[in-house]
Amino acid sequence: MKIKGFGLPLLRWRDVLTYARYGNPEPTCRLVLSESDWAARLTPLQFRVLRGAATEPAYRNEFCRSYAPGCYGCAGCGQLLFAAETKYHAISGWPSFTQPASRNALSFQFDDSHQMQRVEVRCNVCAGHLGNVSADGPAPAGLRFCINSASLVLVGE
Ligand SMILES: [Zn+2]
Repeated sequence: MKIKGFGLPLLRWRDVLTYARYGNPEPTCRLVLSESDWAARLTPLQFRVLRGAATEPAYRNEFCRSYAPGCYGCAGCGQLLFAAETKYHAISGWPSFTQPASRNALSFQFDDSHQMQRVEVRCNVCAGHLGNVSADGPAPAGLRFCINSASLVLVGE
């Protein structure tokens, strides 16, 4: 099963768990900066979310209701993360996607905070915090990527 525009097999929940347990795919490159360099490069909100793993308020974030065409890149490093055609309305209050743009765009870590086991999603190039992924998304892959708007930049088609 492939999604239009994607040349790779669908990422599934078992793949996410395998990456979180045993290690993530190699990124195309890595961007490592000091916290002061990140602070100079990012807006205060982007810094709190990408580097401090903060969560934006539900519905009060830039891309929650945006369905413009194009691609979403990482606000920290520009890495392509999600295609707009995989964005869907999840009634969660945050931008939600069903698939990443590529197999090595994201990294996955178990997150045991908030008294529940979740899987945190980060940019695989700069390790910036994006949000989390869960297994309650739509068919066919069943994934729901719940992503902070502040972690994203929308770029044209
Ligand atoms: Zn990044």
